[in-house]
Amino acid sequence: MTHRGLGLSAPFPDAMSSAPVLQKDFAQTAAALRACRICRDAPRFGAPLPHEPRPVVQGSGSARLLIASQAPGNRAHRSGVPFSDPSGVRLRAWLGLSEAAFYDATKVAILPMGACFPGLDAKGGDRPPRRECAPAWRADLLAGLPQLDLILVIGQYAQAWHLGRNPGGLTETVAGWRDVLAASMRPRILPLPHPSWRNNGWLRKNPWFEAELLPVLRAEVASALTDAPGKGIAARGPSPSSA
Ligand code: SF4
Repeated sequence: MTHRGLGLSAPFPDAMSSAPVLQKDFAQTAAALRACRICRDAPRFGAPLPHEPRPVVQGSGSARLLIASQAPGNRAHRSGVPFSDPSGVRLRAWLGLSEAAFYDATKVAILPMGACFPGLDAKGGDRPPRRECAPAWRADLLAGLPQLDLILVIGQYAQAWHLGRNPGGLTETVAGWRDVLAASMRPRILPLPHPSWRNNGWLRKNPWFEAELLPVLRAEVASALTDAPGKGIAARGPSPSSA
């Protein structure tokens, strides 16, 4: 899989130094992840997780689309279902997917950078994803997804890991979506902002996102979920963004 190291650097050094891994069984790794207590019992970065761990991930070895996200929010923590909140409603609208299609784990994998809800900060916002999680689990989880055709990289933390860069911040990374798409083969990669209401201002300031990126996003998602594995690239030919 060639979805890392497209860029310059990563704030998760372990991500870039990992040796290539052999294919893994996604279900086995996910089962081990669901028993993880690192951030509760042996945190490496700051205070322990303020609640019992509840990793929220979705996927299977046949998944074609990966949503590489940030961390579950409080609602997803309570339900155990990823994006079971207003952010999920907006994300599904962006992707053009029904709930049934979005939650079809045989086709759609959802892996946040931190698998557990990280708790709230002093202002009532979600804390960043736990930094312990990606070095401990992400490479093995990704090695269980050999059929991916498309990765949607949501937010600065996932972009730093999957693209290996974020020097200009999220806006510059997402604005460069044509370059990211053109540089990726299989799986194809698209960077996105987080669909949270907290980004309403960003969406207003960057109307090109809805006008230019969303139509391409929907076409890429539809292709990834309907084409035969590996056929999408040949069928589509060069990225429209490379023209
Ligand atoms: S966030 Fe990740 S590393 Fe931390 S307890 Fe949850 S599963 Fe384990």
